[in-house]
Amino acid sequence: MLKQLSLWLALSTVLPGLATAADYAKFTVPGLAKGQLSHSDIAPLIAYYQQQDWLEVTELGRSVEQRPIYLIKIGNGERKVLAWSQMHGDEPTATAAIFDLLAVLDARQQQQAATGDGGPAWLDNVSLYLIPMLNPDGAERKSRFNALGIDVNRDALALQTPEGQLLMQAAKQIKPHYGFNLHDQNRYHAAGENKKPATISLLAPAYNEAREINPSRHAAMQLVSAVKPLLDKVLPEQLGRYDDSYSIRSFGDTFSKMGISTVLVESGGQYNDPFRQQARQINVQLYLSWLEMISNGSYRDYDLSGYNSIPMNTSGGMKDLIISNISLPKLDGSGVLARVDLAFTAGGNGRGQVVLDEIGDASIYGGYHSLDASGMHYNAGKVYPLTGPLSLSAEKYLQLLAEGYSHFTGKAGLLSNNSGLPVAINPRGVNTLWPQRSMTTTFLLTKDNAVQLAVVDGRLIRLADASLLDAFSGN
Ligand SMILES: [Zn+2]
Repeated sequence: MLKQLSLWLALSTVLPGLATAADYAKFTVPGLAKGQLSHSDIAPLIAYYQQQDWLEVTELGRSVEQRPIYLIKIGNGERKVLAWSQMHGDEPTATAAIFDLLAVLDARQQQQAATGDGGPAWLDNVSLYLIPMLNPDGAERKSRFNALGIDVNRDALALQTPEGQLLMQAAKQIKPHYGFNLHDQNRYHAAGENKKPATISLLAPAYNEAREINPSRHAAMQLVSAVKPLLDKVLPEQLGRYDDSYSIRSFGDTFSKMGISTVLVESGGQYNDPFRQQARQINVQLYLSWLEMISNGSYRDYDLSGYNSIPMNTSGGMKDLIISNISLPKLDGSGVLARVDLAFTAGGNGRGQVVLDEIGDASIYGGYHSLDASGMHYNAGKVYPLTGPLSLSAEKYLQLLAEGYSHFTGKAGLLSNNSGLPVAINPRGVNTLWPQRSMTTTFLLTKDNAVQLAVVDGRLIRLADASLLDAFSGN
């Protein structure tokens, strides 16, 4: 274990952040790979680190609902770094990454104690201050906002929230040279025109409307340029640049105005990675790289070309599901009027109702899931009225779908669904000749007059083998 550890540490020292996923896995804190983290998830970790003598854990203050907010201090160097996560309660990825970073450092400390080896060089030059989970009340209710319904990241001027006050107070007392503002972005951001998810997006926020570049913002941009080669390697074509419109009420912009070189890190979606574990790992690699480069000043060797070459995020550039080349019938129900693509998303940042939000040419979008329906015809399907109790086995359901029934109407309580597959009862927006925008999305796809696929509230059932593609259960 120690041998592997030292290999990893040697790698991360020589080639910042280039340790492999397998190396990283050794330091992944168990229990944090989920869609939401709340105070109870981090409390035992905080309690552990309160017992360690290589770092200081203090209570910075309390949230509206009196949950503790912690400040962790590591190192005693001159260059001060402040990083905070989860100021939006439903954005937990960087909180997990912060505890992974602590696990790396803790292992290094233990190794040092056992072998007498020196600790990481940057600890001599850097003081690192971490505020994991700035908004524990929002985290508790899986909400962006604090307990008052205030967006803490729009409270940098008015300072109406205790959480915002604590962050500002920390910044004024610590006077950091560098700030890392750690967030999650919605999974529908694509990286530029790449039609791929922006798994990480970075920004050196503006400090004025004109988006000028002063020395402190310049340094933040250099920090981004300096990690671009790493990101090009571990995340090809999936790095985006966040919009740099000046947001006067936001902390990143306000800190930038205060002369703190601030970098915004947004963790985003990835294929088949609903809990953003790749973004979590890359966050740790970024933190280690930045700490080392801040310590030795090597980021100043980079110009802004790396920063400027990162493509802007394309908002809405990703869809959960794209079904392309569906043949639509003519007005009389015969033949083929047009071949279209349908693109679906689940509203509410991937947690809401499935919506058909594009009909036509979806070729500009990337899909977390895609299906080419060439040769298949749209068919709204027939309604199966529930007139009495119906126990629905998979076999019975597939038979009904094959007969052209797409949905049920009547009292939902009459249907006992034992099929293991989704059913649509009293859906909106079916029984039309053509698919309808912003409606729930239930229809059939036929080939040679045989039903091949059923789309039930956006979920794809393949009749041949009763397989289900639920494009909305996470990506
Ligand atoms: Zn956020």
